[in-house]
This record gives sequence, structure tokens and C-alpha cells, in this order.
Amino acid sequence: LKHYLNRIEALEPQIHALLRLNPEAEQEARAVEQRLAKGEDLPLAGVPVVLKDNLCTRGLQTTCGSRILEHFVPPYDATVVERLREAGAVVLAKANMDEFAMGSSTEFSAFGPTRNPWDLARVPGGSSGGSAAAVAADMAPVALGSDTGGSVRQPAAFCGVYGFKPTYGRVSRYGLVACASSLDQVGPFARTVEDLALLSDVICGYDPRDSTSLKHEPRFAQALEQKQPLTVGIVRESVQVGNSPGVLAALENFRQTLEGTGVRFVEVSIPSLEYALATYYIAMTAEVSSNLARYDGTLYGLRVPGRDVSDTMMKTRAAGFGPEARRRILMGTFALSSGYYDAYYGKALKARARIKADFDQAFAKADVLLTPTSPFPAFQLGSKTSDPLSMYLSDIDTVALNLVGVPGLSLPAGFEEGLPVGMQLIGQPLQDERLFSLAQHFE
Ligand code: GLN
Repeated sequence: LKHYLNRIEALEPQIHALLRLNPEAEQEARAVEQRLAKGEDLPLAGVPVVLKDNLCTRGLQTTCGSRILEHFVPPYDATVVERLREAGAVVLAKANMDEFAMGSSTEFSAFGPTRNPWDLARVPGGSSGGSAAAVAADMAPVALGSDTGGSVRQPAAFCGVYGFKPTYGRVSRYGLVACASSLDQVGPFARTVEDLALLSDVICGYDPRDSTSLKHEPRFAQALEQKQPLTVGIVRESVQVGNSPGVLAALENFRQTLEGTGVRFVEVSIPSLEYALATYYIAMTAEVSSNLARYDGTLYGLRVPGRDVSDTMMKTRAAGFGPEARRRILMGTFALSSGYYDAYYGKALKARARIKADFDQAFAKADVLLTPTSPFPAFQLGSKTSDPLSMYLSDIDTVALNLVGVPGLSLPAGFEEGLPVGMQLIGQPLQDERLFSLAQHFE
């Protein structure tokens, strides 16, 4: 804990990965020592973890990177936080993020951007950029983020660390502030596959408080001991999308290295992949517009009093939401409005089913699929904030997995001009553990 607190003191002023430290961290670490002395078996004894600021922490502010929740102090811990504490982990700090997890660069935080530890002029990715940057800069050994359309995997790739989005339903969403509920999943960051597995074993598992939670025991550490003869399908459409030279080189190097360990590679096709971004940005904004309706100045968070109830709501929302949150609420409300519902939201649901069917077909030919995590490495701060479309395009490799609900692991796979490049392994539903045994071949 002292090591990481020292690192934070030295590096946080330049990187701004964190929104606040847990003032109780040292006290909590001492309590863990006592549990150990009593003979408790704690798989994460004393391990400091950083949590994205959309994971509820009892007594510790949880802002979602938004002014509207700036002073919100949850009265309870998210299930994942509860599980981490039970396992002996110590909450070190809350991490910066794009407002309500909407963004790909952490520049849409109401509390200022996070910088990429590899190059301070570049973004760390997003929306869990604070968590990824903290792990990359050794300000924490591990962290949690949330992934609605790539927000764990893409920042992991940009920061040169491991990031994992489990099969939808394997991690409880209880206490994760909702972004787009049918897509949201909590996921870990780490600097080694082994650490990623340790954390996954703790956070995955059934929770009766999340109605979409699945009964499926995690066996991640165990998977690291297994070597299965796997077939990996390289997704043609993702290779053809216009990747930067360093990303293509890393893909080829990955293939050659794994072929040397007996993994077989085939080419697979997911024809509907080209509709994934459009489908995602309709489905996700629709869900966002509904989920964010609760921030109305009456229940919790910011309240700007107005003439009457509706004036209070308008003033509160105008003062509390930043530009990207507004844009998505407007787009989502439009997509759901009568007269447009069938043309947009209804269509997106059909496209989502089609993409799922295409994934099923690809999985008939391969156990695991492979794409780059992002077509390019970390971009310059400020280069995409005024162009929402180009920001959305950076999610091209990640969003389909959330639409389909399948697991994805991003692993560090090389560099392009000094910037980390990530590869994405995609698993069949509930076959998350396979991704770990495969990733380990490359470590
Ligand atoms: N970048 C994507 C978006 O802006 C993903 C967000 C996420 O996974 N939370 O919607």
C-alpha cells in the first residue's frame, strides 16, 4: 500500500488517473492484517485496487465523472466491491472516467482528462481510462472498470495492460451505476494474465441482486494450468477495416508466436460486423436516455431549484450533464420516440440479432476469435472531442461483443512508435476461461 501511495504522490499530478483516494485505506489494510492473523484465507490479502468511479463504494463519493453526482455518497457497496473486500483487497482510490461511461478517451470527465502514461500528450482511452492509466503507471497493481462497448478493453490496449470483459451476466451489476443495462459489464485490469485471473475469480459469480446474473462458477486461475488445442479465427472484416501498420504487424506477430505453440489459425467472416457501430450507438443511447432519466434533482445528486418541478428538473439537468451525456440523451430519446421507434430502435434490435447469428456461425469454425482491440494506438488529446463521429469510430472493434454478450480480453501485443498496441481475443458465451489460457501463451 505504501509503495502505491508513493507512486500516486509522484505521478498523479501529471496523469490525473484518480478522482479521490480512499482516506480509510491504511486502516482497512490493518484490518486485513488482523483477519490474516486469525487464519482467514484471503486470496487478495492486502492487494490495493483502484475502482472506476461508477462502482458504488459505501461512504466514499461515487461521481461517475459527472457534476450531477459530484456529491453523491452511496450508502452501500457494489457487489464487486463487497467481493473484493471479502477477499482481502483494499480500496485504494476511485478512478477518473468519461461522464457516465460515455466516451473513448476519458476527455468527457467533468473533472478533467486523464493522460496516457506512455505519452502525456495522448489519451489513455476510455471510458475506464483512469483505471487503465493507474495500472499502467504502477499506481495500483489491479483495477476495475466497466465495459459497455469497449471501455475496459480499449483503454487496456491504449495503456499496454490486460483488460477483460466477461460474458454478460458473469459479473454482478448491482451497485454499478447503469449506463446501458443490456450491455454493461464490470471488468478487471492487470499487468499480467495471472493477476487478471486472480481478480476475475473473485468478482465473477452469481448474485441474486442482479436479475441478469448467471449461475456459473469462475475457474480462471485453474484455466492457466490448462493447455487446450484451440483454433483461433481471425475476423476478416476487422482486418480489412483500415488498421495502422503497427497494429497489422502486431496481429501477424501474435499469429506467428501462437502458431509456434500449436494453436491453429483460420479465417472467419462476420458479414454484419459493419453494422455493429450503428447498431450499438442506437441501442446504447436508447438505454442511456432511459437510465439517466433518474437524475432529475429530486432523488439524489445535484439539485438546482427552479420555479416549479419541471423548471427544477430542467435547470438541474442543464447544469449537471456535460456535452456527451446530453448528446446521447437526445439521440436516445429520438430513437425511442413514437414515429421513430420502428425505424431506429426496432431496427437496431433486429440488427443485434443478426450480428449474434453471424458470431454463432464464426464460432462454428473456431473456438476463439481474434481482432485488434483498436485499429490504431492512443490518439492525441483534443483530436477527437469536437468530432463525435470519429470518436465513435474508434470503438469499431469492441462494441459488437457487448451487443452479442460474449467475453473479450485485450492483451498487450506490441508497440507502434513507442505506443502500446492491443489484440482482442473473443470467446464463446461462458467460455471466458479459454481466453486466459490462450493469452498466457503470448505473455
Ligand atoms: N466508447 C464507447 C461509448 O462511448 C464505450 C463506452 C463503454 O464501454 N462504457 O459508448
